Amino acid sequence: MRTAEWYAKHEWAVTPEEETQLLQLIAAVAALRVARSADLARLLRRYPRMGGQFSKDQLVSAYRHFCEVGKLRFDPEVLRRLQMKPTRTVSGVATVTVLTKPFPCPGECVFCPTDVRMPKSYLHDEPGAIRAEYHGFDPFYTTHSRLRALRNIGHATDKIELLILGGTWSYYPADYQAWFVQRCLDAMNGVESTTLEEAQHLNETAVQRNVGLVIETRPDYIDAAEVRRLRRLGVTKVQLGAQSCDDRILELNKRGHTIEQTRQAVKLLRAAGFKLQLHWMPNLLGATPVSDRIDYQRLWSDTGLRPDELKIYPNALVREAELVQWYVRGEFTPYTDEELIALIADCKVATPEYVRLNRIIRDIPKDHIVAGSTVSNLREVIKRQLAAEGRTCRCIRCREVRGESAQVMEAVTALEYKTLGGREVFLSSNTEAGKLAGFLRLSFPMAEATALTGIDELRGAALIREVHVYGPVVELGQAGRGKPQHSGLGVKLLREAEGRARAAGYDRLAVISAIGTRPYYLKQGFERGELYLVKSLASSWHNPTGEKS
Ligand code: SF4
Ligand SMILES: [Zn+2]
Repeated sequence: MRTAEWYAKHEWAVTPEEETQLLQLIAAVAALRVARSADLARLLRRYPRMGGQFSKDQLVSAYRHFCEVGKLRFDPEVLRRLQMKPTRTVSGVATVTVLTKPFPCPGECVFCPTDVRMPKSYLHDEPGAIRAEYHGFDPFYTTHSRLRALRNIGHATDKIELLILGGTWSYYPADYQAWFVQRCLDAMNGVESTTLEEAQHLNETAVQRNVGLVIETRPDYIDAAEVRRLRRLGVTKVQLGAQSCDDRILELNKRGHTIEQTRQAVKLLRAAGFKLQLHWMPNLLGATPVSDRIDYQRLWSDTGLRPDELKIYPNALVREAELVQWYVRGEFTPYTDEELIALIADCKVATPEYVRLNRIIRDIPKDHIVAGSTVSNLREVIKRQLAAEGRTCRCIRCREVRGESAQVMEAVTALEYKTLGGREVFLSSNTEAGKLAGFLRLSFPMAEATALTGIDELRGAALIREVHVYGPVVELGQAGRGKPQHSGLGVKLLREAEGRARAAGYDRLAVISAIGTRPYYLKQGFERGELYLVKSLASSWHNPTGEKS
């Protein structure tokens, strides 16, 4: 097994020619009278490396290396110039994406590309795939180098959401999955562990903590045993490929599962407290812009679906997919740009406020696309179109405060909706301007749904599935005191959830916590259960001392 020492030693490797270029480039940056990002971009072009430009990350790494080995004298101003305007993540959480190794998928979806060098559905020249291949699909090295790259360009890496992508996670062997998560955590911890449990334990107090763990899988691979296993791995969010709510479309596209299986998977995952993201694909074989509009409505009208987050992946006709045969026979036609833009604009407007619309396009390198839309800035085009028409998207992403300092309304707003296995309450804290400063997802599962999961510690418990606070914000009434902070927003939302759970007759409140947020909930009076943190509602509210972020 490659160790942390091995990676540290091999981190730095450039040819002598590249080293000369880098030294000249750094000297040129240091010599600038005023350093603007346009100057840095110009110099990066003037001193290229073989096959392209140096990245900012490589430049910063190189500078640190040259200083360490005594080739350059460290100057914080030069480092600042090389980092050039760090753009911190809005939520303060850094996302690290790690791809699993190439492996078959049980699915035979006609639209899905096959590239034997990659896990199913990924193309070898997508950015994440290039990185994964470069690191030999090694989870430790991919995580380690990604964290270093984020730090180099000025991102904080103390809170990390780990996004594990590639094929169908639940189809990979169980021991591979455990090893994979363990090695990602080892990279965050900077310490080698011997078991997954040890890595999880170390991460609770590590400098770089995991505050979310996401995997992607198929609806027909979710059952009670899988749900419990995912929880043991530390998973907090599941991306589920729904793709369509219409059995006819699912069958035509050889999805290999029905909409009822998607409903059952959603019900189980929600009852176990996971955050749920569905993938939905317009323009599948057999669909029309009209049928897609109807299908999109089903995502919200069907109580068995109603996901927390959605990714819209318009079907792109890629040359590596079986669907090309239908296209050649004239049995499949991709939508025009106009059709696609009008469709997604209507979808955005029809999205409920409790949903985060994470994506509306998948970035596929243009030369793979046989026919159909190649508009890469679809989000901006649609935003402009909606603005021109006086329409808005009210999804979470479009309402987030996004780092602005803002005043928060006193009252917490509650949006309630039914699901197949119970009732959901979306609690939110909003600014005076109607922006979202924080939210909490509270589930009131029916006993029958909880029993289905086979997780005893959830019996009789209401569930907190997500708490998210955007910052910095100022509590209304504290304006002018210059106190931009989370201002107890997380605690306020927790308190509201607790009161509502008690009023609804639940005697316990459980939270699905990522490894790195466990200490926060422990401070809030929750206690360790086997897979969740649980608080008895019989006791009074624990004196809050901390803040979730
Ligand atoms: S299940 Fe997903 S990865 Fe597997 S073939 Fe279908 S789309 Fe591709
Ligand atoms: Zn939106």
